[in-house]
Amino acid sequence: MNEFREALDATISHLESLKLAGVTHVPVRRETLEALSRPVAAPQAAAAPADMFAERIHTAGSTKAGQMASLRAQGLACVKCKHLAASRTQVVFGVGNPDAELMFVGEAPGADEDARGEPFVGRAGQLLTKIIETMGFKRSDVYIGNVLKCRPNMPEGESGNRQPADPEMQTCLPWLHAQIDIIQPKAIVALGAVALRGLLPELSGGITKLRGRWLLYRNIPMMPTYHPAFVLRQYTMQNRRLIWEDMLAVLERLGRPITPKMQNYFKSE
Ligand code: SF4
Repeated sequence: MNEFREALDATISHLESLKLAGVTHVPVRRETLEALSRPVAAPQAAAAPADMFAERIHTAGSTKAGQMASLRAQGLACVKCKHLAASRTQVVFGVGNPDAELMFVGEAPGADEDARGEPFVGRAGQLLTKIIETMGFKRSDVYIGNVLKCRPNMPEGESGNRQPADPEMQTCLPWLHAQIDIIQPKAIVALGAVALRGLLPELSGGITKLRGRWLLYRNIPMMPTYHPAFVLRQYTMQNRRLIWEDMLAVLERLGRPITPKMQNYFKSE
């Protein structure tokens, strides 16, 4: 996909997200309107790729599973971020069904994920798995990936996890975009502010403001919600109810059955 097409898609996606968020008017300068009214020269069809990384990602295979296996093999060998390649145990590429109708996108692997090579396997992962199963899916029915595929390194002598830096995210995002291009899920759940910023960097407003509102990522409906790690840190009835309400909206969007038990999940506690 060339830069012209990407810019056009991003603009359309941004405007549709604003519309879904309730924005009805967008201020446009007179010069912009005049420029838009002029005919545009057709984009160069065979422009050389500016980013050699983009050129290197290719997906062979006639099925989604085959394409994902091809992409994964390339991703596991990625050393684009030298410091992360040196500190990681392994690349945590993603897990699940390449034919999934629902995809969850998180932030980055932590220590547990780095050790196991699978996203969302620590305490936050156990909560996510519980949410997925309560929605009526098996974990293997959906696809789970992160904005960053390698564990962000920690300063010497420090334990714990840190958020990805913006340059790290920008470097790694082509892998996530390629994963979504293969899966083409019917809906994406962005888990937390970092996932939301990675997928829709043009949006302003934090996760508290935007969670629960349908947005669009390349014409795929996307629901931002809290990261399970945040819910564990602030384990209030309010936060658990909000994340569950977001998941009920996802089920409704997918046309999946919502039982009275699901509907009343927190009312029955
Ligand atoms: S974080 Fe992403 S881009 Fe960087 S080395 Fe790991 S897989 Fe490659």
